[in-house]
Amino acid sequence: MAKLAELVVKKADNPKGNYLWEDAPDEDKFSACVHCGMCLEACPTYQELGHEHQSPRGRVHSIVAVAKGEIELNEAFADPVFTCLDCRACETACPAGVQVGALIEEARGQVRQAVPLTGFLHC
Ligand code: SF4
Ligand code: SF4
Repeated sequence: MAKLAELVVKKADNPKGNYLWEDAPDEDKFSACVHCGMCLEACPTYQELGHEHQSPRGRVHSIVAVAKGEIELNEAFADPVFTCLDCRACETACPAGVQVGALIEEARGQVRQAVPLTGFLHC
């Protein structure tokens, strides 16, 4: 894992905002979102939880916000990213063809780089 000083340098001139590692969420994927909300009805976590940030549109918005450097790769970002079922029902409903599932997987990779899992055993 990179040292803090290295990350500070990387963040200062990083065109991907607060994404610091390879395979960050792809702008070509998230820029297609037109915020229409047609995906909301299809999303099981939005239907169950009723919060915008737990919807496809909200998740894409958060992914964009990290790319703009507006929010960090923190717990508030990780929660909706990992609550997503990756079922891709939203993609079927989306008229713009936003690849939400792929964006979620890319976002998870960034979170796991920032906060690696330790598991139960330390060998
Ligand atoms: S992901 Fe697709 S359906 Fe959902 S708000 Fe964006 S453009 Fe609309
Ligand atoms: S992939 Fe995630 S955001 Fe899309 S419908 Fe499934 S749970 Fe909702």
